[in-house]
Amino acid sequence: MVSVEKLAIHGGPPVRTKPWVSKYMGSEALGAEEKARVLQVLEKKRIFRYLPDGLETSEAAALEEEYKRFVGTDYALAVNSGTSALICALIAVGVGPGHEVIIPAYTWVATAAAVAVVGAVPVLAEVDSSLTLDPQDLEAKITSRTKAVIVVHMRGISAAMDEILAVAQKHNLMVIEDVAQANGGTYRGRPLGSLGHVGCFSLQQSKVIAAGEGGMLVTNSEELWQRAVLYHDGAGYQFRFLERKIPAFPGQNYRLTELQAALSLGQLEKMPDLVRATRENKRKLVERLRNQEKIELSPVFGTERDLGVSLIFYVADEEKARLTAQALTAEGIPAFQVWDRRARDQHIYVNWEFLMAKRDPWGRSYPWSLAEGSSVDYSPETCPQTLALLSRAVQIHLNHLVTEEDLRDIEAAINKVAFHLL
Ligand SMILES: *Cc1c(COP(=O)(O)O)cnc(C)c1O
Repeated sequence: MVSVEKLAIHGGPPVRTKPWVSKYMGSEALGAEEKARVLQVLEKKRIFRYLPDGLETSEAAALEEEYKRFVGTDYALAVNSGTSALICALIAVGVGPGHEVIIPAYTWVATAAAVAVVGAVPVLAEVDSSLTLDPQDLEAKITSRTKAVIVVHMRGISAAMDEILAVAQKHNLMVIEDVAQANGGTYRGRPLGSLGHVGCFSLQQSKVIAAGEGGMLVTNSEELWQRAVLYHDGAGYQFRFLERKIPAFPGQNYRLTELQAALSLGQLEKMPDLVRATRENKRKLVERLRNQEKIELSPVFGTERDLGVSLIFYVADEEKARLTAQALTAEGIPAFQVWDRRARDQHIYVNWEFLMAKRDPWGRSYPWSLAEGSSVDYSPETCPQTLALLSRAVQIHLNHLVTEEDLRDIEAAINKVAFHLL
């Protein structure tokens, strides 16, 4: 069905005048359950996790238990952000000065910053049309210094874990999964975060479930877990282990408060329903769009590897992507160009200023200055495949609140815009 009405950007009637759904997920579902849990913490007046009284039954301890159950790992550690989860994971797997860590060129800047703050050099690898790490480029970027890879399940899409784990095993790399944008996702039936050596989650408001700020680290290794615990709290071993299996080293304070842990427990209960709705919506939407030949979808979109938290599609070139995003927005479906050169979006490596300049907080160049003879360099040409994909990608936020009517409107707007512009 093709609408021949004039495009709204050209003064025609828009497909939709009703406001679009919120871009948030878990935080939109906040309600009586979270309120009751948070109030209970206030009433108990036990707002710090590691008070000796009730240590084992703290909200944060309960959240860790729930995460272990949900992800299926032996250990979990609640922290105060996704970034601190990544930093603890890097320390846990032994990354430090002199090492390189491969990361995708399309991820939130925190992935790159976490590597640099533990004294290692981030090495950029391409993403493929799934918008996750390209396993071939991962292998191409490995050097004798490579210690680990951070695999990012970007925009709710599970990375190609079979291929990535095979490369990592062949080259003896530690694998950290950054699940910040795909909490609740799976790969061949296995929960994301449980496939690599360590999995990292964020509970910031833009993510699937939210506590404002918060994070979680999961692993099956007791030793890695103890190292992460020690780093998240310099006195961690005093509270957490009956038997310490690792030597002491200095840590930070990345502890989660009881209030945030309680809020997260309420959110976690809601996650199965939330994720069921986003997956189902996305599957139906991809079905509707399969016949629209003027847009391209990755074969993984709408499959098990897609949590359904956004719709991304590709058009012929950057100019068409810009026009398509503008035209869809005018039709009442807020859309944006994934790489808008004017927007300085911190998901795209060319906008990570400190990395491009190899700059540390003191105006010098640590850790890059350590790596003598290293050929690691950064420029807009470092990952051309990634930029080529992102420049012609258009994105629409989806969530659990999207209805059949909303899906029909997206389809109608895309078909209308495709008819006129693509
Ligand atoms: C949000 C995000 C992070 C960081 O999480 P915070 O909780 O904001 O620190 C890391 N990686 C990715 C891919 C993210 O989207």
